[in-house]
Amino acid sequence: MVHAAVIPAPRQPVEIREFPEPDIAPGGMLLATEYSEVCGTDVHLWHGRLSGVPYPLIPGHVSIGVASKIRGEVIGGDGQRLKEGDRVVFFDVHRTCGRCYACAVTGTPTKCPSRRVYGITDGAADGLFGGWSEAIYLEPGVVAARLPDGVRSEDYIGGGCGLITAVHAIDRAALRLTDSVLVQGTGAVGLSIVALARLSGAGLVVAVGAPGNRLELARRMGADVVFDVTTTTAEERLARVRALTGGRGVDVAIEASGAPAAVEEAPGLVRDGGRYVIAGHYTDAGPSTINAHHQINRKHLEIRGCWGSEAGHFLRAIQVLDRHAVAVPWREIGAHVYALDELNQALADAEAFRIPKALVAPGRRARG
Ligand SMILES: [Zn+2]
Ligand SMILES: [Zn+2]
Repeated sequence: MVHAAVIPAPRQPVEIREFPEPDIAPGGMLLATEYSEVCGTDVHLWHGRLSGVPYPLIPGHVSIGVASKIRGEVIGGDGQRLKEGDRVVFFDVHRTCGRCYACAVTGTPTKCPSRRVYGITDGAADGLFGGWSEAIYLEPGVVAARLPDGVRSEDYIGGGCGLITAVHAIDRAALRLTDSVLVQGTGAVGLSIVALARLSGAGLVVAVGAPGNRLELARRMGADVVFDVTTTTAEERLARVRALTGGRGVDVAIEASGAPAAVEEAPGLVRDGGRYVIAGHYTDAGPSTINAHHQINRKHLEIRGCWGSEAGHFLRAIQVLDRHAVAVPWREIGAHVYALDELNQALADAEAFRIPKALVAPGRRARG
């Protein structure tokens, strides 16, 4: 039997349940889970704030494990056949159809209505489709990859879903060399955006967030200037950002905070003709008020949303880690590791923002 941690229903305590080992279809595989994560999305899932979620749920959408059983041939993202014993990571989004209007006509596959996501839209009744479990079933067609030998599991899971989201947000930001970039939010997504903006050749990287230890990590991820959102006012931040950018404002701002007030503040911080990418409002945090004349039309501001991620963002995140994880401390984002039966504590710690991101190591046995 396989032990997994289950959210039975919104706001209910997590419980450990047993599941039978699944039959593996040709082209599928079973992973022995090494790590999964407890990210902001999982807190939202626990609060019941995402629509279309089939409870009971085995959460954990981005995970890493060792291939324990492979049936038939499965080719990894590097074009090589995956073998039992490999450290395998996989793209949590699957069943994107490739032929609907979003996939085939508008080129926006993250809006495909067939798309499903491990640990979010796949319920426990569907099988072992979440990482808060000793084993994860990768059905045929899931995009999987062997983690390069030089990348530690802790680097991959420290970056986790936040890094994959950040690769997408940086694409949407369409940065140019020397662009000044302001990142709102210093959670797992914001910290990875800071790092990728720096690696993309930004001339200035400003991070706005809290608390102090995350701002300190933001500096080590590549931020030149940090503002504590709890101890500075919007007026002070505006004055400082103007002073840092010759009075113009930053070329690009990227939102990764989920706060309505951040969206109201950003247009003032961006230069005329600049760009604003919104990636942090994954759930409905309420409206933001913007003056369309002053803040968008007359300003010639470009605003872009950023929903979900594509397989290419996942595969490129692995390449980023292979090249840069020695220098960039992704592993420190996920420094707190919990056992399978400690997930109620992990959720409470994540909910209270005590840690950037909690990790789950389902193979670790419990204190009881
Ligand atoms: Zn589609
Ligand atoms: Zn996540």
